[in-house]
This record gives sequence, C-alpha cells and structure tokens, in this order.
Amino acid sequence: MKSSLVILYHREPYDEVVENGVTRYLPKKSPNGIVPTLKSFFKNVNQGTWIAWKQVSSKQRANFEKRIVPEGEGVNYNVTRIPLSADQVKHFYHITSKEAFWPILHSFPYHFTYESSDWENFKEINRLFAEAACEEAADDALIWIHDYNLWLAPFFIRQKKPNARIAFFHHTPFPSVDIFNILPWREEIADSLLCCDLVGFHIPRYSENFVNVVRSLRPVEVVKREPVPEHITPVGTALAEPEMVSQLRYKGQLVRVDAFPVGTDPDYLLENLRKEKTQNRLGKIREELNGRKLIIAAGRVDYVKGNREKLEAFGRLLERRPDLHGKINFVMTCVSAAAGMRVYKTAQSQIEQLAGRINGRYAKLNWIPILLFTQPVPYEDLISYYKAADICWTTPLRDGLNLVAKEYVVAHEAQDGVLILSEFVGAAVELPNAILTNPYSIKRMDEAIDEALAMSEDEQKERMAKMYKTVTTYDVKYWADRLFDVFGHMTHDTKDGSSQEAAVV
Ligand code: UDP
Repeated sequence: MKSSLVILYHREPYDEVVENGVTRYLPKKSPNGIVPTLKSFFKNVNQGTWIAWKQVSSKQRANFEKRIVPEGEGVNYNVTRIPLSADQVKHFYHITSKEAFWPILHSFPYHFTYESSDWENFKEINRLFAEAACEEAADDALIWIHDYNLWLAPFFIRQKKPNARIAFFHHTPFPSVDIFNILPWREEIADSLLCCDLVGFHIPRYSENFVNVVRSLRPVEVVKREPVPEHITPVGTALAEPEMVSQLRYKGQLVRVDAFPVGTDPDYLLENLRKEKTQNRLGKIREELNGRKLIIAAGRVDYVKGNREKLEAFGRLLERRPDLHGKINFVMTCVSAAAGMRVYKTAQSQIEQLAGRINGRYAKLNWIPILLFTQPVPYEDLISYYKAADICWTTPLRDGLNLVAKEYVVAHEAQDGVLILSEFVGAAVELPNAILTNPYSIKRMDEAIDEALAMSEDEQKERMAKMYKTVTTYDVKYWADRLFDVFGHMTHDTKDGSSQEAAVV
C-alpha cells in the first residue's frame, strides 16, 4: 500500500540495537524531543513512511536493508533509509550544511565558507530523499519535509508528484534577505521552497524574512496578509512582527506561509520530575549546594549559543561581586558536537579554556564556581538541575526557538525561579516576562544577571506564573494540533484549477 503521509527527517525515529547478532529497531529510549510528536501524526493515516539517512560502509551497503519496520505496538509506518557513505555524510552534513548554511541561517556571515561546500553532493542527496518519498507516497499524499538539509527535496518531489501536498518546516531561524542572499545557491533554494503548499517556521519574523527573500528573487504575488496572533506579538522586543504574509502565489501555485513555535511536553517533564529517582537526585544536588545559589545553562557547543559571552559575563560577575564568592555555582552543559564537526572545535576549546581560567582564578578547596559538562547530561539529571536552579541563563546570540528556556519554566511550576533570555531566540516572542537581554552587549548582560540575582520572591512568582501559563498552553500538543488542523484544510491549489483536496491528515 502506498503511504498517505511521508515524513522526511534526517534523524531515524528508533534506536538501533544489536542483540545476539540480530539487529532490532526499538522505540527510542528517550521519548523527549520532537520525534515522538512527529510519529504521532501517523496515527491519522492507514500507512505512513519516514525517510532518514543512514551512514553505511561499502561492505555494509551490499546487504543494506533499505526499508524496515520498527518494533512497537500499532506501528503502521516503515522507515526508508537512504544509505550514504562516510564521505557523502561529511560533505552533506558536516561541511555544506554546517559550514555554509548554518552560519547564514543564524546570521553569522563571517563564518560562512563557500569553497569547501559541495553543492552537487547536497543536490544529489536531496534528490535521493525525494525519489524515495515519491516511491512511497500515494499521488495525493501529504509529504512533510523537515529542515534546511532537505531544502531542495520539494523541487524534485514536485516534478514527479504534481498533485502531492508538500509541507516544509524549518527548525532553525530564517535570516533576513540581505543575509540569506549571500548564499550563491539562493535561487535554487527559493524555487524549491516555492514548490511547497505550506512553508512553516517557528515565529513570524522568520516567515517574513522568507517572504522578503522570495520576493527579492522572483515575481511572487502576495495574496494574504494577517495580524500576528496576540500571544506571539510582544511589541517592542527584537523579534516582534505585528503582521505577517500568510499566502503567496507563484507560477499559479498558492504557497501558504505560517509560524508554529514548537513547544515542550510539560506532562512528560513533570512526570519525570516526580519520579523517586529524580527526587533523590534533586535532594542530592540541594545537599551539595548547601545553601549556595545555582545558575544553570544548558545547550550545545556552538558559536550561535553564546557560551563564551555567558562565561565572560560570569567571570565579570565574580570580579565585581566578591560577596558572591563561595555562595554561587554555575552549572553549564555544553554538549560537544559529533566528531568531524570541525567548525565547533574552536568554540569548544574556547569554552574549556575560559571555564578553566575562571575556576583557576576563584576556586577554593571547598568551592569551584563553574561545573562544566561537555557530554550530554541525562534527562533526569538535567531536570533536577533545572528545578534546583535559582536562575536559568539562556542567552544564545541566535537560536531558532530554544526549548531549554521552556523546560526550565515548566520545572518550576509557576512557583519561583528566574529566566534570563536572549532577545534573539524565537522563544523570546512568547516569553516577554523573562528578563530579556542582549548577548551582544556587555552592559545588558551584566544588568540582566544583577537583576536576576536581586529579584524578589514575589516578582519571581508573578513572572514565572505568566510564563508557565504560556508554555503549558502552547505546548508540543498545541503545535501538533495546529499543524494537523492546517494540513486538514490544505489543498494543492494551482490557478489552472487543479486543486487536490485534503484526503487524509
Ligand atoms: N539537553 C539534554 N542534555 C543536555 C543539554 C540539553 O538533554 O545536557 C536537551 C534539552 O532538554 C533540550 C534539548 O536538549 O530539550 C535542546 O533543545 P534546544 O531547543 O534548547 O536547542 P537545540 O539543541 O535544538 O539548538
């Protein structure tokens, strides 16, 4: 049977384990993150397909099982894996995506490198994804593509499936037109995205940026403009947009543009927080803190995350506030990137050196100010740190949305805590009650941490209650329900009258 929903996402939706020489495809151990939500869309169809890539050696390629069905109750989808060589992965994922697209998406043109990019390889891998999608999809299927790694897939799919309904979701920011247009391949990317029936982003600023990009490159007609929903319009903040274009027409085809800020799963987090194991962990952390204040920062090693700027701000804090010596701890998780990501090497050594320098200057036998983790902190530990932390310091220079900020708010259940949030992360438009700061400004960073440390319990409670309401209302279920609703009304609409009705999803 052909699939009525095909999802293209670079991650595989299962854990592959080998037991007694047999390969098993088990439900993911960590049900945190977006993958379980995406899989839940298959509940609405008879048959679905998930397409991902898998690195294989030439020896493995001979017996490679391209199409597998993961284990689990009620699984009604297969996973089609695109086998890629280590060299293809390196050029597609580690170099072209991370050294050319990533800096542009995050408005860091200084880090953009053209010379090492392999556009032909990128195109070829996108074509392989598209081909696999077309083989699996019914003619009127909904084909849902995720993230910039697959920017060209809509173009290749549309050529083979003129009536498919194609949706695209960006998990990253989308930069302003003058930054995006640095990409020498901008026309091909824009033409491909204009083959979609829906192009989705986290927040209206990114969708507006996209609209400006395609209007700068192609004669695109604006069909509809709407006010931005109230809960994502905090006027006066850096990423606010009062209205957004929601429909475009190009070469006769209607292209919907929309913003869907992804949410967390508050029930899952709180359920885990209440587990005995987590409570014991939390008790231990509090005991070890022994009354000291705790600041938490969680994220990946990446220059966009502003880790260096945060550590420098912490160093300045200890310098100007000797009264805090021995009375404050900073736990920073800076998860290292996969081996081979050469772009992150400098960022990681900078962070390690800086944390070492600050600890070297201030540490005493019974107090080490910074605890730096470079390996992922397990979920139970992370949420224990969230709960124990007086302050969550989330100040990326740029970030698509930022789930850590929302998770911290959930963990505190409207009681206490302070969130310092960069104005340049998507979540800032939903959480104006955080202490919003500008990570590019030393003064604003210093003011933010001072304000956080001085905030009264009453003010903490008031701000956290407002943010708790937001993150529990606009959670990952809301995100999925809204998309589900949009898909339900989405037709493939062309001016020559061919309009493919929403059959499923
Ligand atoms: N996370 C984790 N362990 C860590 C650090 C982060 O499990 O040591 C998780 C965190 O709970 C969050 C995700 O990684 O759900 C990071 O998501 P976010 O949107 O903040 O950043 P991204 O990595 O997607 O840019």
